[in-house]
Amino acid sequence: MVDPEKLDYMVTLKYFTDYYRSKASGSKHYSSDEIDERYQEYKQNFRGRQHTAFFTAHQEDDWFREKYHPKARAARLHHLSMAKVPRYEHFVRQLEAGAFDNVSMDEPPKGDGETAEPVQNNPDHETHTLFIKTIPPSIGRQRLEEFCSTVPGFQYLALTEANPTKKFHRFGWVKFSPNTDMDTAHQQLDRAKIDEFQFHFNHHQPSSTQQTRLASDICNTPERLTKDLATSKALIETLDAEVNGALAEDVVPRFEGERLLEVREASLLIARGENPEGGEADDASVPRLKLQLDIRLAYLRAIHYFCYYCGSECESAEDFARKCGAHHYRRQPQGAVHKSQSTTNWLAGLDERLAMRTDPSTGAELERMGGKSLDKELEAMSLKHIEKVEEGKYRCALCSKLFKGEAFVVKHIRNKHPDAIQVGDLEENTAFFNNYVRDSRRYQTPATGMLPGQLPGAMGYGFSNPMMGGMMNPAMMMNMGGNGAPGRGMPPGMRADPRQMRSYVDLDAPAEGDMGADNNFL
Ligand SMILES: [Zn+2]
Ligand SMILES: [Zn+2]
Repeated sequence: MVDPEKLDYMVTLKYFTDYYRSKASGSKHYSSDEIDERYQEYKQNFRGRQHTAFFTAHQEDDWFREKYHPKARAARLHHLSMAKVPRYEHFVRQLEAGAFDNVSMDEPPKGDGETAEPVQNNPDHETHTLFIKTIPPSIGRQRLEEFCSTVPGFQYLALTEANPTKKFHRFGWVKFSPNTDMDTAHQQLDRAKIDEFQFHFNHHQPSSTQQTRLASDICNTPERLTKDLATSKALIETLDAEVNGALAEDVVPRFEGERLLEVREASLLIARGENPEGGEADDASVPRLKLQLDIRLAYLRAIHYFCYYCGSECESAEDFARKCGAHHYRRQPQGAVHKSQSTTNWLAGLDERLAMRTDPSTGAELERMGGKSLDKELEAMSLKHIEKVEEGKYRCALCSKLFKGEAFVVKHIRNKHPDAIQVGDLEENTAFFNNYVRDSRRYQTPATGMLPGQLPGAMGYGFSNPMMGGMMNPAMMMNMGGNGAPGRGMPPGMRADPRQMRSYVDLDAPAEGDMGADNNFL
């Protein structure tokens, strides 16, 4: 048997156990507990190695830094938060005018024409937007922005996320003010080069009908509506607090979505003759739950470009329209709601993504996911400055002071010689790494799929490069992760870790339970 540590995929507990038992000589016997403990450690180390490999390969990429590097992220977050201010102010005015009083996330009844809502009737409709087909990872947002902003009328540049199936290229949109002559703008930008890379710009055509997504009808059950209401409240608190934190120094209104929505919803309930404080019976009523939930889902979409049923957010309106669409409705149950295995898996994945946003992992949980502990990093850095004089006597090599134990020297070095172990850099790098690990939508080197020496793609997974995630369709992943049985084509003794696999889900692929997305960009 091959040593699990030497394989580039995660083995099952059974394989791991068999390996250790086969290796043990007659006298040595591993108990189940011992093996379990080693297996947990093995999994944690495996994830750590996987994350490190991806992190090392991409830590200099612009798209990676603006997502995860503490400083770059803070600057980006400030910019994105500023853009949310006018959206917030607009929402507040609309809310007070009653525009959201009847908002519903239920799939409209068939035949009323709402599912295929025309964006506009004029096919020559001018969007004042140019579309950039491909942007290599070597050319960062700032350079491209500087370049595009030389054209009069430039308003903003919006980029998609880096696409792992396209060598981490992105695409983007350049928005111009309404009085801009778009042909001139196009002429000025098209075929221009940055670093020998030639950019192609097209006039942006929004699709003639906005795509609509449908979430599973299980989302229409009272239990789920109740749970989703609680989660949507937590999300609003989290996302608003993020904006308020980023804009703490700016003269802008504080975001207080939860308070505003509660006030509006109370007046709506009173108008309907219900008690806004709620009672046992009232609380469980489906129309009441939907009134409360849907106004919150509308808030998350309008201000944060966060789609609850996708479980993720976008940075720009253009990307949001592309990835989710105009609507993400709950499917209407046809008779009794059937809770299939794939629906259960989809919900588990959604709940996990949402929880990672409202309640990011820290401490031991983060380490289990393969994240780093700052304390351990500091300790490792300190060890080279510690000399063991004799048992119970340790010296700080930086100032010769003596201590009774190693742990005391570590603490001493951290406090007295922070520069010697570069505490500032360690803090920043650990945060950088952990921000990546904590992202529920992170890309990573696939955990599974390749036997040593096997050609990429030979498993029929369609990986064109082992570094790329994002190519498996969700149904395939659910098949692998959810039911405890190895998926078709998996190497023997191998089972995907659902948590790992889920991170391959790309918004570009329609989520399970969704209507197929007619995406004109892919
Ligand atoms: Zn969505
Ligand atoms: Zn010292």
